[in-house]
Formats: sequence, C-alpha cells, structure tokens
Amino acid sequence: MVESWERGICYSRTALHVSGRVTRSIIVFLVCDLPAARKAAQLAGPTSHFYCTACHCWHRSTCGRTDIQTEDWALKDKNEVRRYAELWKNTGTSVERNKLFASHGVQWSTLWRLSYWDPSRQIVVNTMHCLLEGLAHAHFCRMPSVRICKLGHRTREVMQCIADVIKTTDTPSFLRSVPYNFGETKAGTVKADEWRTLTTVYLPIALVSLWGEGSAHRNSDIAVSRRAILDHTMDLVSAIHIVCLRSMTQDHADAYRTYMINWIRDLQVILPHARHRTNGHMALHVWDYLQLFGPVWSWWCFPYERLIGQLQRLPSNHIFGSIQISLSMIDFLRYAGMQDSKNQLSSGPTSRLQSLNIG
Ligand SMILES: [Zn+2]
Repeated sequence: MVESWERGICYSRTALHVSGRVTRSIIVFLVCDLPAARKAAQLAGPTSHFYCTACHCWHRSTCGRTDIQTEDWALKDKNEVRRYAELWKNTGTSVERNKLFASHGVQWSTLWRLSYWDPSRQIVVNTMHCLLEGLAHAHFCRMPSVRICKLGHRTREVMQCIADVIKTTDTPSFLRSVPYNFGETKAGTVKADEWRTLTTVYLPIALVSLWGEGSAHRNSDIAVSRRAILDHTMDLVSAIHIVCLRSMTQDHADAYRTYMINWIRDLQVILPHARHRTNGHMALHVWDYLQLFGPVWSWWCFPYERLIGQLQRLPSNHIFGSIQISLSMIDFLRYAGMQDSKNQLSSGPTSRLQSLNIG
C-alpha cells in the first residue's frame, strides 16, 4: 500500500488503455468494532483511560461528558500521535515501552508506514456495532425499568404489547422482519439489522402506546416515571433513526448529535445505576465522520459483514473459486454505494479524499 500510493503501480496494458495505466491506491478508513480497531491501530483499548481515538478526552471518569464545545473534543493532530508511536518504536527496553504506552496509549503500528495515516479521522466509528449492537442493545436489554428482553412480571405487559405490534403492523416488503417472539430465549440473538428495525419501527409504536399521552397507570408517580423513561428512550430512537438515513444534510447531522447529547446527559438521571460506556462517547464522534464521509450507508459494516458471510458460505474443496468471489465483490460495492451521490454532506471517493487532505 505504501508503494501503490507514493509511486503508483504501472500496468503495461489494460482492456481500455493499450499503452498502459498507472494506478494509485490508499486505505481510506478502518471500520470495525472498537476492540478490533484499537488492535489494528495498536492503540489503547476502549475500556482504558485512553477510551477515545478521535479526541483528547481522557480518563474513564469523563466517559459521560457532553461538553462538545470545549477544546478537548477537537480531533487529535496526526503528527503528535505519530511522534508518540515513533518514540515507542525507537525505545529500546520493554519497560520503557510500557511506560510510554501507559502515558500516551500509543504503540507503533505498521499503518504508520502510510504517510497519510491519521487515526483520529480514518478510524471511523461503525454505527452498526456502536449504536445498534452497542447502545440500543444495552438500553433495551440491560437496564432495569426498560429491560424488555427478559420476561418478568414487571415487563410482561410490555412484551405482550411489543409482540402484538410486531404481528399487527403493516410494513413495506423491504423492511427486515424480526422474531414475533422477540424477548424470549428461543427467539435467539437479535442481529444488528433486526435491532435497526425494532428501534426505528416497532419499539417506538409499542412504548408510546404504553407510556405516552393518554396511557393509564396505577398512580401519577408511575405515570411520570414511565413518561420520563419514554422521553429518554425516544432520544436514542431519534438519533438512530436519523443516523440510518440514506441521505444526510448538515441539519440531520446536528439533530443526531443533539439527540445523542440529550440521551447521554439524562442517562444517570433516569437510570442512576447505569454506567457510561465508551460506545456513548464514540457515538458523538459519528457526527465528525458524517462530515468527512457522508451517510453511514457507504461506510458502515453491513456490506462487509455480508461479504464475509458470503465468503464463508462459498462451497469449496479448499480451492476458492474466483468467479464467486468476483460476484460477491460486485454485490458488495453495489450495496456499499461507493459512488458520488446527491447528498449535501461529503460522499463518494473524490470528496472523501479531499476531506482527509490526501486527494
Ligand atoms: Zn472523543
């Protein structure tokens, strides 16, 4: 990749250019879940005090901060991070290296051989893992009072209502179905795409009908409590709905960030026992990557996961077929929408490179 960007690769002849062609390639971004991204880039883990790869926010106790106007939220300077990585690489002993890693959370990675490598901008936050499998799953399944994944006497009414909504709601054919017995053990693990459908369609309908305007409760305290939980939940639902849109404008991106700030700010007000997680902080940085790369549809992990699934299902006798792989790549590129679009925010290969100052 170093040579293919700095010198280019010369093809003596191609189908369209008989006199040959020079191509140049780059790695635009690294997209995966948080632990994998930190390992690939040799940065401190998401549960460490260096929980953020993008900005200067530091220490676990600050994980729930929402003061995005402060200078701590500015994206890190890649030259400063490179300096720490080179310092680690050039240090002789493992003891000294451990001290440096504890101080800066940075080790040398082969990715630093790329002259344009900029972890704060190129390690993007994957909304599939961060928001759907991370925050939505945690919000609806792990928190008491909202715990709708476990059947219990407190939530039986909620679960029945959700099951009724799933069975009776008419939805377009392109919408992925979800298990009718959602919440029961035999329904299995809810996948990321099912979380998207549940969070943006079925759960809001069910919870608003249960806890919203005109709903009946045993007393006014319960009514107030349920309404507060509903409003808090709708902040997350609204953020996920907006970030999953196929087109993105500046107003959409700003609205997404406002809803996420509201959800993080009120988390321990509504649920005092809840812990702030790195996913919440990183979800606020999705706003930065919407500015750099446009709608999440062209850079989230769904097409990559689908491609991995296709490759794993390829019939083979330990001899992989090139035709099937080519077909998979075509589907993948088509699904990822790797083309310029009419979105207001940057999208497409050219604008992505310009966003990173490497075009
Ligand atoms: Zn940050």
